Amino acid sequence: MATFLHRAPSILLNTVRASMAPDSPAGGTPASAGPADPDLIEDLVAANRILADQGVLDGYGHVSVRHPGNSGRYLLSRSLAPELVTAGDIMEFDLDSNPADQRGRTMYLERFIHGEIYKARPDVNAVVHSHSPAVVPFGVSSVALKPIYHMSAFLHRGVPVFEIREAAGMTDLLVRDPQLGRALARSLGDKPVALMRGHGNVTVGSGIPFAVYYAIYTEVNARLQLQAISLGGSVNFIAPEEGKLYEPNIAGTIARPWELWKKKALRRA
Ligand code: MN
Repeated sequence: MATFLHRAPSILLNTVRASMAPDSPAGGTPASAGPADPDLIEDLVAANRILADQGVLDGYGHVSVRHPGNSGRYLLSRSLAPELVTAGDIMEFDLDSNPADQRGRTMYLERFIHGEIYKARPDVNAVVHSHSPAVVPFGVSSVALKPIYHMSAFLHRGVPVFEIREAAGMTDLLVRDPQLGRALARSLGDKPVALMRGHGNVTVGSGIPFAVYYAIYTEVNARLQLQAISLGGSVNFIAPEEGKLYEPNIAGTIARPWELWKKKALRRA
């Protein structure tokens, strides 16, 4: 918990310093930004396992973090089921999603989700892409995902749905190139969550705990919303103003669930 709390300001400082670093040559192998803080790598490994524990990620999906030493780089596992990810599997990419240190390793096809969101959102330092099951119906239905309770108050900001057909017509639904990644980032806008029609969702945060929290409670909200709808009456959602008033409590208390999730996830490693 303590590491997370004292890391936040250093990420901000590093981001400012890193913005002066040269970009990678187009199409070439980008220079490495150097090794990241082992505590951050540990958080990224933990995030993979936490999201698997919570039923957000299964054999598929991924979570990344922006490199604290260079805002033009991000860290993401090689192509591997999230529950199996260890520190040695973490790779470094530039924001065009070229690997800095591939060493023959297979990469996630949809890594462009991460690179293009980091380009579009300087405030974002962590990204989760999942197919978390309870959320999927809300990406294909005319019923919008809305906040059912305070834990998912962040949904009051609105939940856009990315329609890949509008970006590229008929596809295999995968965000497999930078153009599709940019289209997804445009749909996300300034929100913490976007649904991907017929596919899954993406959540973003200022750090790993926030992106993880949003992914978990988007999934929980979807389950609860379906239950509320199933009762048959009308549903009284959290009002936008209530959501706005509650949101500071998420930032104020997130260290508590994060510490619990991380401890449980790493204990079983
Ligand atoms: Mn996917």
